[in-house]
This record gives sequence, structure tokens and C-alpha cells, in this order.
Amino acid sequence: MTPTPPPRGRFAPSPTGPLHLGSLTAALASYLMAKSQHGQWLIRIEDIDPPREIAGMAERQLKTLADFGLLADEPVLYQSERAAVYEATLEKLLREDKAFFCSCSRTQLAAQGGIHRRCVAAIDPERTAIRLRVDDRTIAFADGVYGRQSQQLGVSSGDFVLKRADGYFAYQLAVVVDDAAQGISQVVRGADLLASTPRQIFLQQQLGVPTPAYSHIGLVRDLNGQKLSKSQWAADLDAEDRFIAFCMAYRHLGQDAAVLQRGLGTQAILVRALQHFDARLLPALTVPEPDGTPDGH
Ligand code: GLU
Repeated sequence: MTPTPPPRGRFAPSPTGPLHLGSLTAALASYLMAKSQHGQWLIRIEDIDPPREIAGMAERQLKTLADFGLLADEPVLYQSERAAVYEATLEKLLREDKAFFCSCSRTQLAAQGGIHRRCVAAIDPERTAIRLRVDDRTIAFADGVYGRQSQQLGVSSGDFVLKRADGYFAYQLAVVVDDAAQGISQVVRGADLLASTPRQIFLQQQLGVPTPAYSHIGLVRDLNGQKLSKSQWAADLDAEDRFIAFCMAYRHLGQDAAVLQRGLGTQAILVRALQHFDARLLPALTVPEPDGTPDGH
């Protein structure tokens, strides 16, 4: 029997705002999971949605990660440079009749509960998306934190968008293509993406690429129980703030922050966090409601 190779994990921020405590927690979780199993950890900048992005934000996110000692084992991959690969994947799916052109608008789909089961509009060459055709199968997976999950895509999301009518590639397409291209075998990310995972697994099956192991981390909420937004942590942090933020992120992951020592230096703190990290303690916090937009995350 061949031994299981060490995992390859990743953190994949969209450069839509500065990293906040929630994104730091997700980054730290993916790093600690991979490194505690002697694996590799990569960073991918998911810059495929220019209308939502802020100039200079990717560099700023990378600097914040570096300030916490979170350095990737390979060069950072930028999705904005991957259009040719996404196009080739779409062409293959279209050729195999697994994907199709569609000009149905959200308003037109509202009568079907916002879910695309069949086209209700004629093709408009000015406004055409590409969707992946789903079927009746149930997609099930064992999440490392939330346990067994299952979804029938025909009911929950319908045929979903791979390329938007405005010409941009959809997150679901880019994330699956790049997780496969980078050999990612372990995805650890925020629980807001738990409901997206069956769509990603279905697309992996359609493309014949492996499915990574998934663990979703309960979202860090503010004092009012709201999901933190990227704009809520805009300030640059000094060493003391960083130590506190690191302790909060570590504690949120169910770990004992008392093992971390103030004044130790970034790398030494990370090493201690790693030595004491126990993935079995990761808590399953509340699962957020899907945001109701089948084509959003
Ligand atoms: N880029 C996505 C986000 O910032 C995360 C993608 C992922 O981890 O799969 O929400």
C-alpha cells in the first residue's frame, strides 16, 4: 500500500478588502492543518471579479499574511492570469455538452424559485452566460468539521453559472480549475462556502479531476452576531495587536491560546501554535444560511 502523500492546502482570498480576523482565522486554519501533517501551503489570489476588487489590495493581503509569518511554499498564483486555462475548460465542457449557453435573467428565473432547470429565454448574443448542466444525483461528502453533507444540485442550485453574462469567469469554475491545477488535496476555508462545495465536487466529477478533503471553519462573528466584512479591520496592526489577533484566531479554532507567548516573535509564535495544534478540536459553529443567490458563493 502506498502511503498517503502529505496534504497540499491553500488560502485563496479575493482582493476585495483588507484581511480581517475572520479571514486571518481561515488562513491560519488552512496553514496549521497542512503543516501539522507535514504538508505544503499555498496562496492563491482570486482576482477574477474586477468590479468588486480594490487596487493594491492583493499586495496588502499578502503583506498581512507575511506579518503573521504565513508564507507560501510556492509562488502566489493569480487567477487574473489564468483566463486561457478557464476558457479551455469551458470549451471542453461545451464540446461534451456538459455546459451550455444561457441568456436567462434572474428576474426570468424567479418563477422557478431562482433555480435554473431549463432555459426560459431565447439566446441573446449580447448577454450570454455559460452554465453547467446538473442532474439528479446527490452529492455527498464528509466535511472534516461539519460531518456528512449532502445536496441534490437539481433542487438546491440548478444548472449553475461558470461564466457570467458580463463576461467574467465564475468563482465556482476558477476555484475548481485551480485547486486541481495546484494539486490541492486539502481545502480548509470559511463555513460560508460549505453550501458551494457540492457544486465544486460535481464540477470536479464532470472534469475528471480529484476531489480534495474539505473542512469548513465556523465564521468569526462580531459582537452583534454579524459576519465580519473585509472592511471591518482596515487598520494596520502593530506587534501587540497582531499577538492579540493571533490569539483570538487560535482560540476561535478551538485551540488553547495560553500556549502562545507574548513577545516571542512571529515565527516562534507560529511554531508554538503548530506544535500544540489539534485538528480534532476545531469547533463546528453555526452553519450560515446560504445567501439565497444560487450563482453567488
Ligand atoms: N476567494 C474566496 C473568498 O475570498 C474563497 C475561495 C475558497 O477558499 O474556496 O471568499
